[in-house]
Parts: sequence; structure tokens; C-alpha cells
Amino acid sequence: MVTQENHAAGTVKLGGSGPMHILLVEDDEQIGEGVRTGLALASHAVDWVNDARSARAAVAAKSYEMVVLDIGLPDECGLDWLKDLRTQGIELPVLILTARDALADKIEGLDSGADDYLVKPFELDELYARLRVIERRLYHHADPEMRHQGILLDPAGQTVTQDGNPVPLSRREFSVLKLLLGKRGRVISRRQIEEQLYEWGSEVESNAVEVHVHHLRRKLGTSLIRTVRGVGYVIEK
Ligand code: CA
Repeated sequence: MVTQENHAAGTVKLGGSGPMHILLVEDDEQIGEGVRTGLALASHAVDWVNDARSARAAVAAKSYEMVVLDIGLPDECGLDWLKDLRTQGIELPVLILTARDALADKIEGLDSGADDYLVKPFELDELYARLRVIERRLYHHADPEMRHQGILLDPAGQTVTQDGNPVPLSRREFSVLKLLLGKRGRVISRRQIEEQLYEWGSEVESNAVEVHVHHLRRKLGTSLIRTVRGVGYVIEK
């Protein structure tokens, strides 16, 4: 149970869903730490900010796949920020957390553009389940299997096969491949790949991306990913 008094970091995987880059906006230290730790253990990259101002800056600076948003923030009502996002046409999926369980607040949240809501206190397992539902609804239909030269990448199952044979990839190798396959024909910079892979502020080995690409080439063939010197990487169409 995640409450003001206690929190527990779940170790349950978000079964069937891939790693996501999640923005967590929560000013309560214990709840924030519990959710952040739980999501990180479930292999998600989480940026945690404490107020609406930082949330605005984060969304302006980086791309996320999901936002977990506390309504009661110190500087602004989370719903006002959410309304601003929608007004700007940003359709980032948002799950709101609210300590208030009045029906009117839930309705206002959904009317403001939230995809779902959870009332505190909540179980981390329920948070995972809700995020999974949102992700399936929004991404897995729009994010079908990717096929390229005998390679089949299944985002939902997080599996890759080549000519029908399973190719075991690490979580990060999978993310790099998915990013490059999803933007076939476009050169993706090392910086863009790093941002996809790592949490804000976490240490990134300067050659980490090169290492992942090296492993992908070893597993899937040297010609798959082309290096564009000084720019980045591309999988040709
Ligand atoms: Ca709060």
C-alpha cells in the first residue's frame, strides 16, 4: 500500500509491456520514492520531478511515453498543467494520482485530458495494471510488430527473431533496435539514443551506445546498422 506513512517498492514486472520513459510528478517524498523505485525495478526509466514548473521544463526538454501526475502540487494544480498540455496539443498519456476521492475530482481529471486516475492510497500493482492498460490501448495498436530483412521485432512481447530464430537481446539493446527500426531511413544521433535509454541524471558511459550497437551487429549481422560518422546511426529502409 502506498500511503503517506508507508510505501513498498514492488518487484512485479509490467508484464507484456516494454520499458517506457515515464515522467513522475509527485511532491510527496515517500510516495514519489515508492513509485519511482517500483517503476525502475519494472525496467522503466523514470524522471521524478516535484512540481508543475519542473514538469513543464521536463516535457519541453525530453520525450516521454507516460506521465504519472499528482494533482496536489506545491506550485500549481496538476490538472491546470494537464489542461495546458492538451491545449498545446500534446497527447502524452497521463495517469493522475489524487488524494481526493470525490467524484467531481475524478470527472474533472478525466475531462482535463487524463487517461486514467488512481486515488491514494493505492497498491503499486494497481498502478502497474493501469499503466499497462493505457500503454496497450495507446501504443500497442499504433506500435505493431516491425519487420525488416528477416528480423521481426514484437514490441508487446519484447521479443526479436531473425529468420524465425529467437535472438536474445538485453533490455537496452532491444530499445536501441526498436528506436532505429521505428525510424528506418532516418539517422538517429547518439544523443537521441542515450535519451531514450537512460534516466535523467544517471551516469552514462560515453561509449554505451557504441557498445549496444556493437552487440546488435554481432547478434543480427554487421550490415544492419550503418554508422554515419559524426552524426549517429541508421537502419536503411
Ligand atoms: Ca501532492
